Amino acid sequence: MKDKVGREIEYLRISITDRCNLRCAYCMPESGIKLMDSSELMTFEEIEKVVKACAALGVSKIRITGGEPLVRKNASALVSKIKAVEGIEEVSMTTNGILLNEQLSELIAAGLDRVNISLDTLHSDRYYEITRGGELSKVLSAVDQSIKAGLITKLNTVIIRDFNYDELMDFVKLAEDLPVSVRFIELMPIGQGKDYKSVTTEEIRKTILKERQLEPFSQVTGNGPAVYYKTESSKGSIGFISPLSHEFCDSCNRIRFTAEGFLKLCLHWNLGINLKAALRRGCSLMELSKIIEKAVREKPNHHEFMMSMDNKVDYDTRKMVQIGG
Ligand code: SAM
Ligand code: SF4
Repeated sequence: MKDKVGREIEYLRISITDRCNLRCAYCMPESGIKLMDSSELMTFEEIEKVVKACAALGVSKIRITGGEPLVRKNASALVSKIKAVEGIEEVSMTTNGILLNEQLSELIAAGLDRVNISLDTLHSDRYYEITRGGELSKVLSAVDQSIKAGLITKLNTVIIRDFNYDELMDFVKLAEDLPVSVRFIELMPIGQGKDYKSVTTEEIRKTILKERQLEPFSQVTGNGPAVYYKTESSKGSIGFISPLSHEFCDSCNRIRFTAEGFLKLCLHWNLGINLKAALRRGCSLMELSKIIEKAVREKPNHHEFMMSMDNKVDYDTRKMVQIGG
């Protein structure tokens, strides 16, 4: 399926819940968010139908996210449903890792191909602070078990100037010691993210280059805009995701489906279509595919995160926890 500027859309990110067992300070307010009524939440059958409609239009890769996807009961059942859809080649998940160990074997049995685990610090007191109560040891153990189980494992690390920038080289060392990709992500000014100071990829690279040489590394596979490197002794790799400093909108291949049923065309803009009404009146797959195809044509060309939003009306006011990254 192509949008109006010819970008091929082949990747769907599905948020399966707005609930989370952490409260990361840059992602959601301390008091939490107003949660959806569970009757409003897309059921697994509704999600499966959207996946089928998208797969018929050429989507082949699915990422399950949240909130925290593993707080939704029986998330592995959804993984198997999606994995069984004709045309779907890969199912991955983004998780904070807290509940991963408990569910790892069933997720793998259900066919999960990859996992991205979010981890912003290697100090347990800082982890407790930034996540407002999280236990670092659970995440580190999940990373370990996930690698041992043979799952392709990546880490998502958002670098925040006054919080974890001083741990940059510790994360580089982690990618040297473990067969994981550590991806440094530029903090986006979405929701609570606006209250923290980001660090550009260029600055992060320069800091690493003071101590290491970085060789471009193309063997990491993925569906997104990360650019990968290796240091001389890395077992894993280092990735940079630079939504702000190197806008990658021209090659954007993704759409999102939120837990309330909104097909979201761009991370920044509140543009898209709510599929819930169509799903709940029992529309046919063919009809659903047509609705999606028509909506996707209107995918915005670019985000405008770096511009003042004072006079803009269409940008999304959802918090990151409600979008899923
Ligand atoms: N709860 C899951 C997790 O933490 O992995 C999935 C949802 S979370 C919203 C997905 C990713 O978005 C996490 O890696 C998180 O660090 C990232 N994220 C949240 N707010 C962000 C922001 N303002 N800028 C960049 N990344 C952000
Ligand atoms: Fe929850 Fe993930 Fe947001 Fe942290 S980043 S509050 S774990 S949704």
